[in-house]
Formats: sequence, structure tokens, C-alpha cells
Amino acid sequence: MRIGWKRGRDSGKRGRDPGERCAGPGCFAVLGDNGPVPTYRDQAVVLRTHKLGEADRIITLLCRDHGKVRAVARGVRRTSSKFGARLEPYSHIDVQFATGRSLDVVTQAVSLHQYARPLVGDFGRWTMGQVMVETADRLVAEEKEPALAQYRLLLGALRTLGHGTPDGMRPGSMVLDAYLLRAMAISGYAPSFTACAVCGEPGPHRAFSPASGGSVCVSCRPPGATRPRPETLALLGSLLTGDWKATRGVPDVVLREADELTSAFVTWHLDRGLRSLMHVDWS
Ligand SMILES: [Zn+2]
Repeated sequence: MRIGWKRGRDSGKRGRDPGERCAGPGCFAVLGDNGPVPTYRDQAVVLRTHKLGEADRIITLLCRDHGKVRAVARGVRRTSSKFGARLEPYSHIDVQFATGRSLDVVTQAVSLHQYARPLVGDFGRWTMGQVMVETADRLVAEEKEPALAQYRLLLGALRTLGHGTPDGMRPGSMVLDAYLLRAMAISGYAPSFTACAVCGEPGPHRAFSPASGGSVCVSCRPPGATRPRPETLALLGSLLTGDWKATRGVPDVVLREADELTSAFVTWHLDRGLRSLMHVDWS
């Protein structure tokens, strides 16, 4: 394996061959062709993977401290691979990377939580998880820029999707809506469901416009704004703030309208619609 020497914050300690199991917290470097290679360790959620060559994969991860990282995982498509199963989408792992010239290399991965497990066999929830990881991938555009709030939100959303809220299980689409609204808010696209999104006039208001940023007053209402049910705007406000108790026993018709408004809002504010959003069965 060829890995260029590059100074990193964990550089300077000698270690062992890339891919060999680390001896513990004292192991900070692996040995490449050009000498010791700096490594770093983090916790991460696997966002997506794609094939590389015969047996490798490129893994895109959202890390707690390092933000988004794309890294090569060597040999993981072989059945003998000790990493393979830990590097599937939705996996929460403790991972070590060796710094590479272009892409870093995964040298260790230890499973922390298998968020995929309760989603396997439930195509609807699985697809909603897909929308979550794709949204995180889109919203965290820069690699290796810390995105702690997005990381925490995604972890919580995947856990809630499979295991329910502190107030019990909720429909998958409700968990997805909550994730999408909060992820957009973290990225600076916070929707408003009470005050007018344009002039700030205190609400609630009857009209809603994704392009204007949410609820709009009579004066600011653009052509084509919709008039959702007041209960729907109240539900969306609760999902945005994470008030799960207020979302108990919501009628289907309100939830469906909330799904539509969330989808319209997200689609408008991300320049093109999320591919996976088209496959969600909202019913
Ligand atoms: Zn206004």
C-alpha cells in the first residue's frame, strides 16, 4: 500500500501494518511504504458506500470530530473481511483512519450500534433512513469540517426511527419530518411555523410558502401559497423543537399534510430534490 507522509495532529508514534488491529489507545501510527503514517480515531455513522476495484469500497462517514470523511476500506467485499459488516450504511462505529495522499484508509472499525437492525425487514423505515443519510451527506458539504450538531441529530434520528421516541413509537414519516426540519434548521434554513417568515409578524398565520421560508402573513403571502390546517402547522412546530409528547395521537390527515409540507420545504431549499425522497411511501 502506498500512503504519502503527511503531518497530522496524531502523527509521530510508530505503529503496525495498515489493517492490523491496533494495540490500544497508545497506537497512533501505522507503517506505510514511506514510513509511519499518521492516523486518527473517531466515532462515526456510515452514510453510504460504493465499490472500488475488485474488493474495496469507498465509505462516506459522518464523524463526531472530523465531520464528513470519505475513506477507502480495503478488502471489505471479501467474505473473510473483518470490517465488512461494520461498514454498512447506518452503522455507528468507532473507527481509525490512516491519513492518505488523497483518500484516507480505514484501518480499524468497531461496532458501537447497529441502527440498521430494526430497519431491516421494514422497507418503509429503511427508505426513510436512506433519506436521512442522504440529507446529512448533502447538508455537510465540506469534508473534514466538524459538523457535530448534524452528527448528533442524525444519530438520534436513526435511533428514534428504529427504537421510538422517549414517548413511544411514532410513524416513520413523522420521525423523518422531524429529522429533515431540524437538519435544515442547523444548516441555516430554519422554517417558521408561527411568526411570518418574511416580516416576522407574530402568528400563527394561515398561509404557508416553502419558498418564503414557512408561514406567511396576509401581506407577505406570495401567489401559490397553501393554506394548511392550523393543527398541521402546530405539529410541524412540535417536530422542529423535538416536543414528542405533543405529537401523540395526531390524525393521519394532519400527518400526511405535514409530510407534504416538509417534503416541499426541503425540496425547495436543497437545489435539487433528494433522490431517495422520491421512494418514500408516505402513506
Ligand atoms: Zn409578513
